[in-house]
Amino acid sequence: MSEEKSEFKVFEEKVKKEFKNAWENIEDKDIVFSFADEYKTFLDNSKTERLCANEIIKYAKENNYSNLEDIIKEGKSLLPGTKVYVANKGKSVIMAVIGKENVSKGLNIVGSHIDSPRIDLKPNPLYEDSNLALMKTHYYGGIRKYQWATIPLSMHGVIITKDNKTVNVSFGEDESEPVFYISDLLPHLAKDQAKKTLAEGITGEDLNLIVGSIPYGDKDTKEKIKLNVLRIFNEKYGIIEEDFLSAEIEIVPAGKARDVGIDRGLILGYGHDDRICTFSALKGLLEIANPVKTAMTVFVDKEEVGSQGNTGAQSKFVESVISELINLQEDFNQLKVRRAIANTQVLSADVGAGLDPTYPEVSEKRNSAIIGNGVQLVKYTGSRGKGGCNDANAEFVGEVRKIFNDNNITWQIGELGKVDQGGGGTIAYILANDGAEVVDCGVPVLGMHSPYELISKADLFMTYKAYKAFMNR
Ligand SMILES: [Zn+2]
Repeated sequence: MSEEKSEFKVFEEKVKKEFKNAWENIEDKDIVFSFADEYKTFLDNSKTERLCANEIIKYAKENNYSNLEDIIKEGKSLLPGTKVYVANKGKSVIMAVIGKENVSKGLNIVGSHIDSPRIDLKPNPLYEDSNLALMKTHYYGGIRKYQWATIPLSMHGVIITKDNKTVNVSFGEDESEPVFYISDLLPHLAKDQAKKTLAEGITGEDLNLIVGSIPYGDKDTKEKIKLNVLRIFNEKYGIIEEDFLSAEIEIVPAGKARDVGIDRGLILGYGHDDRICTFSALKGLLEIANPVKTAMTVFVDKEEVGSQGNTGAQSKFVESVISELINLQEDFNQLKVRRAIANTQVLSADVGAGLDPTYPEVSEKRNSAIIGNGVQLVKYTGSRGKGGCNDANAEFVGEVRKIFNDNNITWQIGELGKVDQGGGGTIAYILANDGAEVVDCGVPVLGMHSPYELISKADLFMTYKAYKAFMNR
């Protein structure tokens, strides 16, 4: 027999907001687990922005998306439901499903970034010291440097040879392959280092990568170990030392994403920021067939260093693609592009800081995302009084909230730490500057920007559902 609720209980449930655990809103956990398995494979195959872009294009082709450049060349028309993708210099990708309304009426966009914090090789990296061959590096994005020492590291990237050939380099993901290593001091001799701050204990110039130790040559050979490393690179890839000058080689944590916890509810992996939002947006779009407005996903590079350059969100890539789409549908003029963007709604799909129960003092509990409470909406980011933030308009946040509620999506509100504790930003402000409505929305993460970040499978699943519902209108 069910007990009747008191009038106070009924009223309380009506007016109070309680954020709930997303797992309790998931009937079939197996669907979430298999979705998470596919995500782990995506993450393992996407260790750099180039590899991630390749992976996205692979999905696009498998799902019958056409290359927009071919459509333009062949003079084909864009009909409602037409699926297109565009790649930009191998480092950013846009995909879209054309809506029933013309693109000039505005779009629904989910935009994420596919670069992650890492360590890059310097242009002249290789040297020998104390029977070791090492490489000089320059870190990329906001890393805590001490976290990157004494862990297995892999190497991925491209080298352009003196004959203009592109060589793809990859070491260290397969367990049969060697990995690389950045050393740290032993505690016995770390008296002086231990007095330094965490930020200064290992400096940027200390992040030297150990890459070899066996000599090659005879008594007249100088730097035999360095020569042996060059010999192996030359045999494997046909490259010479000067080729490192025209290369982009990235050092990232080696190995695969893994389940965490005996209940397997969490995933540890490199580059959840922001490939988890990327995967969620990609999977959401692939299930959209006939939206009213054109549904678009934007996957960009360089967010971790400020979004500049011709592959970052500040480039004209998005605007150019929207212009091309309008030009394929109607007589083109620039005003139509401006109007389209002003009538566009965007989820800036980026991860946010989850509340860490071990370090609650940096967060304000009522306004922090909790791991497992679903996708988080972040009205504003920024630092020191919302400095540099995109503060989403209340009207738009209201609209997004309604979409999520109508689609049974477990969502929560998130803020990047306590007031004046620190801060950060995303790509949100960039399309907002052009007039679009933009709000940050993504997966809460623990250990953000560390070699292995932690997320909840329930949050991943709710984020995918949220992005899909947002674009499928
Ligand atoms: Zn990010």
